[in-house]
This record gives sequence, C-alpha cells and structure tokens, in this order.
Amino acid sequence: MRSAATKSAAVRGTGPSMALYIHAVSDLKPGQQLVGRGPTAVTMERAADGVWVMRGGFPHRTMNVYFVAENGGGVTVFDAGIRTMTKHVREVGRIMGGINRVVLGHGHADHRGAAPGAGAPVWCHEAEREYAEADDPQPYFDLSKLPSWSKAGPVRLAYPYLLKGWDGGPVRIERTLKEGDSVAGFEVIHFPGHAPGQIGLWRARDRLGLVSDTFYTLDPTTGEFGHPRVAHVAFNHDHEQARASMRKLAAMDPETAWAGHAEPLTGDVRGQLETAAATT
Ligand SMILES: [Zn+2]
Ligand SMILES: [Zn+2]
Repeated sequence: MRSAATKSAAVRGTGPSMALYIHAVSDLKPGQQLVGRGPTAVTMERAADGVWVMRGGFPHRTMNVYFVAENGGGVTVFDAGIRTMTKHVREVGRIMGGINRVVLGHGHADHRGAAPGAGAPVWCHEAEREYAEADDPQPYFDLSKLPSWSKAGPVRLAYPYLLKGWDGGPVRIERTLKEGDSVAGFEVIHFPGHAPGQIGLWRARDRLGLVSDTFYTLDPTTGEFGHPRVAHVAFNHDHEQARASMRKLAAMDPETAWAGHAEPLTGDVRGQLETAAATT
C-alpha cells in the first residue's frame, strides 16, 4: 500500500494553479489541499490515521466525504456529499487505489449526491435502503418547521431547490448493513432519528467516530458554524430519537467525532454532546 505521504502528494498534484481561483485558495486551512477549481472545487485533508476528508459544496464547503484506506488496498468512501462532488470523489478514489465501496451514513440528498456516479457498489443500513433507492430520499422532511426567513434569506422557499440541486438521484443499494457489522476496520453503529437508517463508523483503537448527521456544528438555516446541536427538527424523521442517538454517541466517549458537515468535535466530546442533547 502506498504511504500517506505518497497519497497526499498525489492529491496535491491534481490541484489547479492558485491564480485561477484565489478566492477559494485564500480560505484554505493548514493541511488542506484544493482539488478542482471554481465553485465546485473541494479540499482534501487528513482527518485521522488512515482517514481523509473531502470538503465540498458552495460557498463554504460544508459537505464532508470520508476516504478510509483499507489494508488490502483502495478505500471505503463514507457518505457521498452532493452531486457536484462526483468527479472529485471518483478521481481522489482512483488516486487512492480505487473505491471498494461507498457506504452511506444515510440517504439524504446531501449524503447520496455523488453515490450514483462514484463507480463503486453502494451500501447503507437496512432501514435506509428504501430511501436511498427512492426518488425522494427524505419524504418526512417538514420544511414548514423552518423559519421563512433567516439572515441568509428565504430559507423555507430555498430548501426544495437546494435539496434538488444537491441530489444525485436514486442509487441502487448493493448490500445492507446493521449495527455491529465491520467495514474497513470500523464498526457500524446505528444512530437513528435524523434518518431511520443513519449509521456511523466507529474505531475503538483511537475512539474515532465518523457519524454522519448524528450531530451538527452549523446552523442549517443560516450556514453559520457554532456549537454542536441536534439536527434541525425540520430535517428529522424522529427528533427525540435523534436526541437519543446523540446521547448514545456521547456514551461511547469519542476522542474525536467527525460529522457529515463542517468541523469535528475534539476535547470533551462526551460533555459537548451531552450538553447538546439536553439543550438543543
Ligand atoms: Zn441528513
Ligand atoms: Zn447532512
């Protein structure tokens, strides 16, 4: 297997000249490399031992797709972001030795977006299959629970268009998973509530969780980053169950937890999640 450094250099090699997209380049964080150019550019960075995160989406690149290197070569991709990330997912997957499979954290439009075009078999939890394979992967969303307006604009009106634009469409599920299954050196954990079949991947040796939308660190009505919180009630299949899943994750006492959007939780992750479950 190629070393992390080799992979990293290979990813760097696909980046554009900085002059072509100064705006995106200027907001790169240390350790991030730009892949592509223009509004669909993504960044790649190391998230943990053997795990890289691709961040995409316009304008703040808040959609996270994880690439987990496998001992036998190639990667498992966890969560599939939005449709415009497809070519980057394919290309980075190719550079990293090939995508063995895409595992959906859940089937929402902004998590299955690149899955149909990834060129690899797609897996998800058994309770999520019907949604991932449907035209509408989130029929229980209740957008009337969103504010009509936020400082970002008319969010309630905008969301149907955002979801449609993010979505890659129905994806055929080749295999289903359940809690306790093992994938790419991680254990599958069921975190229902935000979606019926939402799952996370858990690695006990460094207490690392890749947990999809089990928590949010941004406000989906404004796009602003902030404290951890349960997903917005408008977007949850069962809000109380989503809260319970957040407590379930807290009880696992993660060292680091990376979600489907924005920044990871570090430090007192358990405490932050318990506070979020009790107050948000
Ligand atoms: Zn979601
Ligand atoms: Zn999401």
